[in-house]
Amino acid sequence: MILGRTRESWYTHYPLIRHLVALQPTTWFNPGVTPVAQAIGDVGLTAADVADASARLNRFAAYLQRAFPETVANNGIIESDIVPIPHLQHVLSERYDQPLPGAMWLKRDSHLPISGSIKARGGIYEVLKHAEDLALAAELLTLDDDYALLDSDKARAFFGQYKIAVGSTGNLGMSIGIMGAALGFQVTVHMSADARQWKKDTLRCHGVEVIEYASDYSVAVAQGRQQAEADPTCHFVDDENSVNLFLGYSVAAERLKTQLATANITVDAQHPLFVYLPCGVGGAPGGVAFGLKLAFGDAVHCIFAEPTHSPCMLLGVYTGLHDEVSVQDFGIDNVTAADGLAVGRASGFVGKAMQRLLDGFYTVSDDEMYSLLALMERHEGLRLEPSALAGVPGIARVLADQQGYWQRAGLNLQNWAQATHLVWATGGSMVPGEEMDAYLAKGRELLSKG
Ligand SMILES: *Cc1c(COP(=O)(O)O)cnc(C)c1O
Repeated sequence: MILGRTRESWYTHYPLIRHLVALQPTTWFNPGVTPVAQAIGDVGLTAADVADASARLNRFAAYLQRAFPETVANNGIIESDIVPIPHLQHVLSERYDQPLPGAMWLKRDSHLPISGSIKARGGIYEVLKHAEDLALAAELLTLDDDYALLDSDKARAFFGQYKIAVGSTGNLGMSIGIMGAALGFQVTVHMSADARQWKKDTLRCHGVEVIEYASDYSVAVAQGRQQAEADPTCHFVDDENSVNLFLGYSVAAERLKTQLATANITVDAQHPLFVYLPCGVGGAPGGVAFGLKLAFGDAVHCIFAEPTHSPCMLLGVYTGLHDEVSVQDFGIDNVTAADGLAVGRASGFVGKAMQRLLDGFYTVSDDEMYSLLALMERHEGLRLEPSALAGVPGIARVLADQQGYWQRAGLNLQNWAQATHLVWATGGSMVPGEEMDAYLAKGRELLSKG
């Protein structure tokens, strides 16, 4: 029995679960998708909340430029560029044996400053928000001050009275740890077993306490939560439920809108935008997708990508059970090389808030991510970590269903020719050279075997 039902009964009512359990790459387009005007209210947050987060990041820009000189080039705004990837698109068309019309682009969050992954959005935002709340309450700061004053011994001594705790598979811990330590906070990162050694080493070099667990992400998060509950000076960054993380991610969309306009890319009903977002617990892709829906309305279609071994969001939204079900309930092991995506139970908050705004979900095998990693390097000269490749097959999954789901959604041949497909590359620039060489070797070997 699984959650009060036999396995056969699950398979009868939810046939895709059989494919997920067999670890087959699976695609599910969401029959419950609803126009933005009707569904955006589900989220419980508004454009004003996103604007508030954006304004806060602007206030911190002066501080970030001082504390992290690599942010000076972009005036203290942590942002990544977009690049076209036509060569990879061509190779994918051959690999998947189907025409791939439209233009494929990459969003390089892999190269975000400070922590080199998408977590440099939400994770850093939440630390800054917490620091601002404390500093304003203590009258160490006013909203009109030059926030560069926070780069001082006085401010660090003040923040040093406070703690921050977080549970992570690696990248969130990196963002919270590096940012928190720079401000002066005492940061503890509870790391799951799959976290890479170099991430733990980097954090320790920054003066962050790293506690290692033999179990997966959920346990690391629970431990972080417990530490914080026992200590009123400790702020817990709740990756499963945090509204602030979510808002930090959502700011990406308005900036993307400017970037697309600068690149002369039109997004409207006739020129749809498809965005492929790697999903772990769901906060990062959920927050970005929320921002995208506010920025582009029904012209943007958001698709989440997960490893075949960790399809928690697909399972949660497909069954409507959200965080009441885990992949382990069905015997799926949640073991994947895709850092950040090894999550067995999705965020209940994100799944419920976003379920009517997301067009689809699909799974990708680890071998496919490695192969694509090598192809990305060979044809576009870009080095990404395995999880960042999860969005690449999305274009083929979408186009394979042109006559079905998408025709019902009203898209025609001309729309496909004019579409933009944006792959969100979520991490990679901080991976040490040796590790990257090993990833590439693995990918090339898979390619040579065909
Ligand atoms: C965390 C992470 C994701 C997904 O973010 P969630 O909020 O866990 O869904 C995707 N890619 C990378 C590299 C990450 O670190």
